[in-house]
Amino acid sequence: MTQAAAPTDRQQAQALAPILAASTAAGVAAALVTVAAVSLPVAAAVVASAGPVASSPVIGPAMTAVRAAEASYRAAYLVAAARRVQAAVKNGSSLRAALAAEKPYLDAHLAAQANRKRAAVAVDKAAARHGLILGWKARMDSRTSAECAAADGRNFDVRRPPGIGLPGSVHPHCRCRPVAAFAGAPMVGETVRTQRKVAVA
Ligand SMILES: [Zn+2]
Repeated sequence: MTQAAAPTDRQQAQALAPILAASTAAGVAAALVTVAAVSLPVAAAVVASAGPVASSPVIGPAMTAVRAAEASYRAAYLVAAARRVQAAVKNGSSLRAALAAEKPYLDAHLAAQANRKRAAVAVDKAAARHGLILGWKARMDSRTSAECAAADGRNFDVRRPPGIGLPGSVHPHCRCRPVAAFAGAPMVGETVRTQRKVAVA
């Protein structure tokens, strides 16, 4: 029999996400102590500095999906942040200094959250015009990321955003946008099997 491996950060974030969606800040901090094995003052400070997950009016299916996923993103951030702050405090830093050092990470997390909301608004607008299956258009040049380039010219279902997220929110400065669906194109993330041709003798 093999011994159970220690839970990964991802598993811990998964455990934290549903608590985050339903709990007060104190409840979230207590949960973070359990899942990330950090001290309560560290957990409470990290949760307080992150603030509440901003709510936004639901205007369509893309925003609904993004809102549902936001707790998971926040949980992943909180686990990682608590780890960093705890490590800094262990190394002799004050809690205040450790939180100040955490600021760029928090800013990046909040910027990504705002980016996801912006993308959802654009996708819902496009869906109102073109339907729930949309096309993915990337700006193709030397700066296009591999993920965005792979998604270009494919389709996605607005109600179930692909693993890379929505067009416009794959990474900071993502220039992708939703367009009308491409007829007959595969879905984003779908493995396209090339049909093997049988040689005819
Ligand atoms: Zn992109």
